Amino acid sequence: MTPPTMNMNFTTFSNTINGESRLSPITTSSLNPSTESPLWPVPVATPKDVEEAIHSANAAFPSWSSTPFAERLQKLEQWKQLYEPYIEAFTTLLMQECGKPRAVAAGEAHEVLALFDHNLQLRMPEERLEDEARVVVTRHVPVGVVAAICPWNFPLVLSVGKILPALLTGCCIIVKPSPFTPYSALKMVELAQKVFPPGVVQAIGGDEAVGPALVQHPDVQKIAFTGSSATGKRIMAEAAKTLKRVTLELGGNDPAIIYPDVDIATTAPEVVQGCFVFSGQVCVATKRVYVHESIYEPFLEAMVEATSQMTVGKADDPSTTMGPMQNHMQYTKVQELVADSHAQGYIFALPPQSIEGKGYFLSPCIVDNPPPTSRIVMEEQFGPIVPVLKWSDEKEVIACANGTTSGLGASVWSADVARAERVGRLMQAGSVFVNSWAKTTPRAMLSGHKQSGIGGEWGSTGFLEYCNTQVVHLFK
Ligand code: NAD
Repeated sequence: MTPPTMNMNFTTFSNTINGESRLSPITTSSLNPSTESPLWPVPVATPKDVEEAIHSANAAFPSWSSTPFAERLQKLEQWKQLYEPYIEAFTTLLMQECGKPRAVAAGEAHEVLALFDHNLQLRMPEERLEDEARVVVTRHVPVGVVAAICPWNFPLVLSVGKILPALLTGCCIIVKPSPFTPYSALKMVELAQKVFPPGVVQAIGGDEAVGPALVQHPDVQKIAFTGSSATGKRIMAEAAKTLKRVTLELGGNDPAIIYPDVDIATTAPEVVQGCFVFSGQVCVATKRVYVHESIYEPFLEAMVEATSQMTVGKADDPSTTMGPMQNHMQYTKVQELVADSHAQGYIFALPPQSIEGKGYFLSPCIVDNPPPTSRIVMEEQFGPIVPVLKWSDEKEVIACANGTTSGLGASVWSADVARAERVGRLMQAGSVFVNSWAKTTPRAMLSGHKQSGIGGEWGSTGFLEYCNTQVVHLFK
């Protein structure tokens, strides 16, 4: 079936409740991080809006969850077709709301297609076991109404990555974008209204009251959350009161272990990419680099050289390879970590440079072998500063890599791939990359060990997190 054509504008934004655009007497707007000038107004959802969205989702659930799977798939396909002509418009929007250089923003807008393609080939598994007495059928049923609470770093991919499996399993979903980056998710949900019945997919945003209201509500059955570990803990504590299901995708402090047999000239620039893509504001960015002592100096030098070639600037400047920090809060937090490293007397292999004028710009910097327990090593910096540390003993470096409360990602680099894989398997992390920085795929689960999360998203495993398991025992 051909989806209806439409002509969307990308300058007005609204919440979506029960299939309709909803404004509010109160509006807010985010700032373009490249210029600090306000972007478009967005409505702040009122408590009544939250209540109505939850009511509509529950009203839509019986019909949507009993819609045949093939029909739900077909609707996802239609939504994908509606989205495709707007990839360029979403790319521009992501540049404006996140401060992403064009290539990074376009990467996110295209990743949405990969998410669609992955979800479109998923099927609900069913297992049948049989003995003389009975047939046992293990099946999966949708949990109900899901609230998707999203961060600011990948506002489109991380909301669509929750919406697609929720809708496919038969759940109804309410998206709550980050107040820092509400625009692309609001627009994507607006687009979905051409395809899905009212109440099936909604979006409400505005201020910091909306998230807790969704988490506390007894008629929301699951929270799919991506954000900081601190907020994840608060959500889990609050969700316990109504025993909601939670998927928590939280912060990381990903180590990279570099063996002495790597080709320095090709590896160092790749490691630098892993540290500084989108100014380090990536959950699975490399946040600590452990380099074998025998190549420490030339490797550090090559990292400095590759980093120095990055051009910091406004997102829409074609020469920019690194944009600003997305918001003032994160900008201040990273500046504070830089100041702490200076105050502690650590050596900067690449010192930060001051950047004048508007915009949350920080130049990338590299700290040379700070103490293993320093703040810059132990905390998630989520910005363009990275510590490089020396190692000599394999057991010790594995212990250091695993020696934080985080467990999101890790990478191991060696010409001996078998060795790198062996060590990779010892990493306490949900995603391990051998001879690559974190290049995730929607086809495989993204999850955190330890305080980096509970459960996970994407892949066929993440898909089933939108379901309860039901076992039907058929006695003969
Ligand atoms: P955050 O925790 O500050 O906010 C995330 C979302 O939660 C926002 O929408 C916010 O409005 C909402 N929120 C805040 N307090 C809430 C509460 N008490 N109840 C309900 N909702 C609440 O995170 P952030 O600063 O937007 O994102 C950056 C963090 O996200 C980093 O730590 C990063 O590592 C992490 N992250 C993790 C992944 C992953 O897949 N593991 C992916 C991207 C980002």
